[in-house]
Amino acid sequence: LSDRLGNVFDKLKGRGALSESDVREAMREVRIALLEADVALPVVRRFIDAVTEKAIGSEVLKSVTPGQQVVKIVDDELVDMLGGTEVEGLNLNAKPPVVIMMVGLQGSGKTTTTAKLGKLLREKHGKKAMMASLDVNRPAAQEQLKVLGEQVDVATLPIVPGQQPVDIARRAMESAKLQAADVLLLDTAGRLHVDEALMAEMKAINAVSAPTEVLLVVDSLTGQDAVNVAQSFTGEVPLTGVVLTRMDGDARGGAALSMRYVTGKPIKFAGTGEKLDAIEAFDPKRVAGRILGMGDVVSLVEKAATAIKEEEAEALAKKMAKGEFDLDDLRMQLKQMQNMGGLGALAGMMPGMKKAKQAMQASGMDDKVLVHMDAIISSMTPKERKHPKLLNAKRKKRVAAGSGTQVQEVNKVLKMHQEMAKAMKQIKKMGGLKGLGALFG
Ligand code: GDP
Ligand code: MG
Repeated sequence: LSDRLGNVFDKLKGRGALSESDVREAMREVRIALLEADVALPVVRRFIDAVTEKAIGSEVLKSVTPGQQVVKIVDDELVDMLGGTEVEGLNLNAKPPVVIMMVGLQGSGKTTTTAKLGKLLREKHGKKAMMASLDVNRPAAQEQLKVLGEQVDVATLPIVPGQQPVDIARRAMESAKLQAADVLLLDTAGRLHVDEALMAEMKAINAVSAPTEVLLVVDSLTGQDAVNVAQSFTGEVPLTGVVLTRMDGDARGGAALSMRYVTGKPIKFAGTGEKLDAIEAFDPKRVAGRILGMGDVVSLVEKAATAIKEEEAEALAKKMAKGEFDLDDLRMQLKQMQNMGGLGALAGMMPGMKKAKQAMQASGMDDKVLVHMDAIISSMTPKERKHPKLLNAKRKKRVAAGSGTQVQEVNKVLKMHQEMAKAMKQIKKMGGLKGLGALFG
């Protein structure tokens, strides 16, 4: 019986593993997509190498092509690389005034982003923020911040003509303390290119203000130059994060990946317009989709993956409905539960599992118990697994000893098996397998 079932599952699992040539072929497409999205060339190389290694030998789902499967793997890796599902906000964990220093090339959006963050801190975090422009290079740069400050209702440091950046930074620190500001935003000068004078100035400002956050502001349209920009800044000041601006434009966001690779720091925000509320938490999933430009493929593969789960569940349900559900099946079910994220994730997935889950919870079982249960079933003979009724007191004792558990726990497993077998029989009453389709979303 379990052999037959094994075959069914093998078939459902699809067409086997991705071969090296499958992967290399698909990677050619991915490479083009990354380059078109303006990911810097050295980053493209490193990324492709890493993902190629991961992809070779992984399983292909039925109903998608190997190439599509590779794209999904690439997308997963991209999302992961760009920060996964965790959203990194500002770190405000320091003695006030917490200093946030903005660095980056001229025109990258530092001053605008400073004002956006000031507004965000005031409105969303209820913080008293203060802003100071240390840009003495660009004419009227300090006035620009002052005007923006008035628009977002955040105080700016009064301008003292002729004062040098480091002195302005000191004055800003004092003023922020005096006014009991929670956060001080320092907007620094940029150059059109990275140069030594800019770096020296940044280091000096960093030294006097000891910032908690040093945010590198980068225009998302920065293409192949992104690596140089990121590298030069990373080497000179202790960056804590990146802000990508102009994500509202045509850029496909390749700079995000380049920045991540080179700085190793989280991308914290995306600027999405000239307006002062056009700033968002960076969304790795969305940006990954934009970089790859293969969103349709990704969702196709995701759908195929759920379809397989459905088929597996259906095949099992069919057996169960026939009353063929034995302890081997139970064990397989337990393995699936573990794979699918434990008991919590389960209720909606398997027919009849809601009841079984309730039964398990009622008898005080949790995810850790899944591992125990597996050990218990493994300690039974194949015959016992097929015919649980064989398990008399003596046999139960042996199984308990063999699995390092108690007879009580063996009984719980048997009870659960009964519950599930019962639940499965009810599916038949509910209209059989035809009706099952509706259970899966
Ligand atoms: P800085 O030289 O780094 O201080 O750059 P600025 O803050 O002065 O910004 C330069 C230009 O880019 C301004 O016209 C801003 O309005 C514009 N800008 C900044 N961020 C964004 C953004 O996220 N989207 C768009 N569309 N424009 C932006
Ligand atoms: Mg500026």
